[in-house]
Amino acid sequence: SNGPDLEDFVTGQVDAKNVVETKTKKRERNVKFNCVCEEAKCPNIGECWGGGETGVATATIMVLGDTCTRGCRFCSVKTARNPPPPDVDEPKNTAKAITDWGLDYVVLTSVDRDDLPDGGAAHIAETVREIKIGKSSILVECLTPDFRGDVKAVETVVDSGLDVYAHNVETVEELQQKIGVDCLTLGQYMQPTKRHLKVKEYIHPDKFKYWEDVGKELGFLYTASGPLVRSSYKAESHLNLNINF
Ligand code: SF4
Ligand code: SF4
Repeated sequence: SNGPDLEDFVTGQVDAKNVVETKTKKRERNVKFNCVCEEAKCPNIGECWGGGETGVATATIMVLGDTCTRGCRFCSVKTARNPPPPDVDEPKNTAKAITDWGLDYVVLTSVDRDDLPDGGAAHIAETVREIKIGKSSILVECLTPDFRGDVKAVETVVDSGLDVYAHNVETVEELQQKIGVDCLTLGQYMQPTKRHLKVKEYIHPDKFKYWEDVGKELGFLYTASGPLVRSSYKAESHLNLNINF
C-alpha cells in the first residue's frame, strides 16, 4: 500500500538502508566505482538494475570523486573546500566497469567541483567518450552540476557524444531558469540522516499524480511524478520518446 508505510520511509522513520541491502545482496558486481544507487540508498535499485518492465538495466555512477565543494543541507555527500584532484584514470576505469557490468543505460553524475576551472566538464566528457569507445550501444545520460552558469563547460559536455543531458533543479524559479526541457521528473525529498534538513511535508502520491497530469498538460514529452521518482529513475523511458538521439 502507498499509505503510512511510504510516509514512514520518506520521513526517515524506516531506514531505507535495510531495504536497499536486501535488494542488492544477491547481485554480483566485481567493479569499484561510486554508484549513487547504493550511496544514496535509493529504494529503486531492484527495478533499475534489474531492468524493470523494459529490461533495460540502468544505474547511476558518480565521477569526479566522492567529495563535493558545496554543502547542500539535504544531501549526504561528503564535502570539502578543496577535494583531492580528480583521478586521471577515472574516465577509463569507470568506462571499463560500466561495460563489464553489462548496463544498457548509464546516468553519469558528479559532485560539484567549484575548485576546478571548468567545473570538471572535460573529465565528464572524457568519461562519456571512453564509455562509447568501450560499447557504443550504451546510452549515456549526463546529470551535470550547474557549472555556475559557465556555458562553455555545458558545451564541453554536450559535445561529448552523450545521449541525454539532464540537470536537477532543487530550487525556485527566481534562482534558476531552465529552457528547452523535454522531460520532467518530480520526486519527494527524503531526509538522508537526522543531521540533514527535515522533511517539511509528506506529499501524498495522489498529489504527485496531480502534478504528473499538469506536466503532461504543459506539453513535456515525458513526465514522471511520484514520491520515489528520481531524475535517473526509469531513465530509459526517454528511449520510448520520439527524441532523435
Ligand atoms: Fe550534494 Fe550536489 Fe549539493 Fe554537492 S551540489 S552537496 S552533490 S546536492
Ligand atoms: Fe539508481 Fe537512479 Fe535507479 Fe535510484 S532511481 S536505483 S539512483 S538509477
